[in-house]
Amino acid sequence: MAQTPSGLPSKIAILPGDGIGNEVVAVGRRVLDLYREKKGLPLELWDLDLGADRYLRDGTTMPKEIFEEVRDHCGAILLGALGDPRVPGLEHARDILFGFRFGLDLFANVRPCKALDDRLVPLKGRSAKDVNFVVFRENTEGVYVGMGGNFKKGTPDEVAINEDLNTRKGVERILRAAFQHAKAHGNRTVHMADKSNAMRASGDLWQRSFKEVAREYPGIEAKHVYVDALCLYLIQDPSKFEVIVTNNLFGDIVTDLAAALHGGLGMACSGSVHVKPDGSKIVGLFEPVHGSAPDIQGKDLANPLACVLTCGQLLAHLGWTEEEARIERVVQLAIREGKCTRDVGGALGTKAVGDFVIERLAAEL
Ligand code: ATP
Repeated sequence: MAQTPSGLPSKIAILPGDGIGNEVVAVGRRVLDLYREKKGLPLELWDLDLGADRYLRDGTTMPKEIFEEVRDHCGAILLGALGDPRVPGLEHARDILFGFRFGLDLFANVRPCKALDDRLVPLKGRSAKDVNFVVFRENTEGVYVGMGGNFKKGTPDEVAINEDLNTRKGVERILRAAFQHAKAHGNRTVHMADKSNAMRASGDLWQRSFKEVAREYPGIEAKHVYVDALCLYLIQDPSKFEVIVTNNLFGDIVTDLAAALHGGLGMACSGSVHVKPDGSKIVGLFEPVHGSAPDIQGKDLANPLACVLTCGQLLAHLGWTEEEARIERVVQLAIREGKCTRDVGGALGTKAVGDFVIERLAAEL
C-alpha cells in the first residue's frame, strides 16, 4: 500500500453521508481526484455507502469490517454531514460519528478560522487580516460522553443531570496538541478558555494542566481567558488570538461564533485527529463544520468551499502541507471573483463553484 509523506497510508475513506454532505463531498472528491490524476499523488479513494439512506434501506450503521479497514489501512476519512429528518433518533449518525471519534480516540478537533477576504468579515472596522486563528476543541470528553440522566422524569420533582467529564490525560493531551501546533506554526500565544470561576473542579484541572504543559513550551505565551470573555473579545478584536484551546462544549459554541467571523458555516472546515505523544498521527476524520442542512438539500445551493478547504486540511494531515495553502489560495480567488454561492455573496450553484475550483486548481498543479 502506498505511503504518504506523513507515513500514513494513502487510502482515503469518502463518506458523503446525508443531505448537502453528498453535494459538497462530490466537489471535495473531484479535488482529491485531481490531485491523483494531475499531480500524481498516490491517493486511493474508497467510497463508502453509509448514512441515512443505507440505514433506512437495510439497517446498517457502521459495520465492524469497515471500521477496522479504516483504522488499519486508511490515512484519512472525508465526511460530508450526518443527519436526516427521516431518522429522528440519529441512530446512524451516532454510530458512524461516535464510532470513528471514540473508536479511534480522535481527541483533537482542529478548526481553523481564517478569513480569506475582507468581505467575509462582518465586524465593523475589521478586515481579513484580523481573523486568523485556530481552535483546538477537546473531542472525546466533557458533557458529550452522555453521563447522567433523569430522575422522577415527567413529574414536578424532575431532576436532570449531565455530567461534565474531564480526565487529567484528556485535558493534558489536548493542551499539548495546541502547543505543538503553535510551535510548529510559529505562533506566539496559546489561549486556554474555561469557566473555572463557576466550574471549579474541572476548571482547576484545566488551569493546573495548562500551567504545567506550558512550561514545556517556553517560547509560547500561555494566556487564560474565561470563555464568556472570549466571546466578547472575539467580536471586539479577534486579532488577539492565534491558538485557542478549550473543552468540548465551549469549543462547540465558540467555533460557531468563530465561523461567523470568516464567512459562516459554508466556509468552516475541521479535522478530528489523534496526536501521539511523539507528535505522530493516526487516521484523521475531516469534515466541513456544517450539518446536512435539509432546508437547502438538492437545490444546488450548498457552499462547497468548506469541504474544499477540508480537503486541504486532509492533504496537510497526510504530509502534503503546501497543498493546504494552495487550496486556500484557490478558495480565496473564488470568493474574490464572486465565483461562489449565495451565502457568501455570489450567485453560483454548488456544481458551478466546484467547476471553478477544479479549473483553477488544475491550472496550478
Ligand atoms: P445539523 O445537521 O448539525 O443538525 P443542520 O443541518 O440543520 O444542522 P447546519 O448545517 O448547522 O444545519 O446549518 C444551519 C443552516 O445554515 C442550514 O440550514 C443552511 O441553511 C445553512 N448552511 C449550512 N451549511 C451551508 C452550506 N455549506 N452552504 C450554504 N448554507 C449552509
